Amino acid sequence: MVEETSRSIGPVVLLGAPGAGKGTQAKRIAARYGIPHVSTGDLLRDHVQRGTTLGQQVREAMSRGELVSDHLVCDMVKDRLRQADCARGSVMDGFPRTVAQARWLDMFLERECGFFDKSMSSKGWLIVIQLAVDYNQLLHRLTGRRTCPSCGRIYNVHLQPLRVAGACDLDGSTLVIRDDDREEVIRERLAVYERQTQPVAEYYRRKGRLTTVDGDLAVDEVTNKVFCEIDRAAGGST
Ligand code: AMP
Repeated sequence: MVEETSRSIGPVVLLGAPGAGKGTQAKRIAARYGIPHVSTGDLLRDHVQRGTTLGQQVREAMSRGELVSDHLVCDMVKDRLRQADCARGSVMDGFPRTVAQARWLDMFLERECGFFDKSMSSKGWLIVIQLAVDYNQLLHRLTGRRTCPSCGRIYNVHLQPLRVAGACDLDGSTLVIRDDDREEVIRERLAVYERQTQPVAEYYRRKGRLTTVDGDLAVDEVTNKVFCEIDRAAGGST
């Protein structure tokens, strides 16, 4: 995949239920456009693992599959988006997850627009792509999800055979089931998505910013469609 670093893309928001493929697509977008992958779930898990004050504040809510407080997440995202590597754009995975977070992001981008590359403003700033996936398909994907604790690669044992059962194809580490990928927690996370995050899609739809891509398609097809949407929104290749 050729990395493209000349163009300013702006923040790309990937919306979609847990298991919709946001993490996979976000990594591909990051590689293709040379912009950082900002996953609030990964950032929060890192805080929990390091035992920071934020980590201690969010640990319980995360293990129950609930959302953590808007102000904690927004402060964390603010610090991340202010880092120099986000100036040309970033791909946001798992944020915003509530309408309050979406409103905060709009205000933040408006206030801090001097930080971001000016050429982005004429191209509409924020690109919002929703990955739409059928509920049963989401359940199937999430219950098969395994993560490599060493390299972070995500597998699905229902969908892709591993070279050695239970081990990472790349480095051989024993794959783990994330705490919040247990079935009862998965059902709660999907319910939370319906209740709190589906309205975010509606928020962007009303603003005319939402594009939906069929996330039930094969992963490479989804990627092609997502790239097309980003290229279109960012004004084609320059
Ligand atoms: P994810 O890896 O994106 O599924 O996130 C894992 C967990 O982190 C979620 O179930 C929430 O507890 C928490 N989390 C991640 N992003 C957010 C967010 N934007 N707002 C609130 N909680 C979040």
